[in-house]
Amino acid sequence: MSRIAYVNGCYVPHNNAAVHIEDRGYQFSDGVYEVIAVHKGVLIDEAGHMVRLERSLRELEIAWPVAPRALGGIMRQVARRNHIHDGIVYLQITRGVAPRNHAFPDHQNSALVITARRGAPFDPEQARRGVDVITIPEIRWRRRDIKTISLLPNCLGKQQAVRAGAYEAWFVDDQGLITEGTSSNAWIVGADGVLRTRHVGNQILNGITRISVLKIAADLGLEFAEEAFSVPAAKAAREAFVTSTTSFVKAVVKIDGGAVADGKPGELAATLLDRYGQHMNRQLADVQ
Ligand code: PMP
Repeated sequence: MSRIAYVNGCYVPHNNAAVHIEDRGYQFSDGVYEVIAVHKGVLIDEAGHMVRLERSLRELEIAWPVAPRALGGIMRQVARRNHIHDGIVYLQITRGVAPRNHAFPDHQNSALVITARRGAPFDPEQARRGVDVITIPEIRWRRRDIKTISLLPNCLGKQQAVRAGAYEAWFVDDQGLITEGTSSNAWIVGADGVLRTRHVGNQILNGITRISVLKIAADLGLEFAEEAFSVPAAKAAREAFVTSTTSFVKAVVKIDGGAVADGKPGELAATLLDRYGQHMNRQLADVQ
């Protein structure tokens, strides 16, 4: 089956899909993106992703390429044309094509690309497997709240993780506090039993999965705090895990080579993963 991509109004074979060399995304990383999970054929937390996209565009003064309400239809069409049952839809909006010049062009012709890819279906057994993380210095800009396609420090960090045999790298700021992973949010259950993930602001991307998991934690009556935690606090934690659209909730069993607690995936991470699966399944009912 050949893959189909959406590029500026056209559905084209993925292999031939292309943008102009003077697209500002290509020249300057001048663009934003979203990754939305497809679970059993349904886009998960679409509204939350659209809210974040709207914010990213507004912060960078990039115009909507199509009416916001049209985007959902196009994303579903791309998922359908690619026969995605489980996987992701990727959406990228750049400031469009213009002669290379740092200042914004006069036009508002933003460029829109949407692709879809198959992925592993939600696996509750994931809770039994843990992953390793390493910690690395935070070297990104100060607007990590914007979901920009400018991801070079994230790529460098992820590559360091891969070389270390780890799944993810957690950025550590100048105060020794963990901000987030290269493509996920970082969480611990502290030695005091409190569930922690960093507060939102300019220092982290407010993950859509993060928002859902916080809601689940509140529904479960768990004690949680949106506050930064240090590397030693993470290493002394009862549990650690990451959240993201593609990882859902993934237990962390080692940080910088040292075991978290007994080195086994934590109970709470498993519970949250289970509840997150229910959260996704509820959305299937909504669209039927
Ligand atoms: N932080 C960063 C830097 C990310 O790239 C991602 C993944 N997009 C996340 C956090 C998690 O966000 P989400 O739950 O919306 O996938």
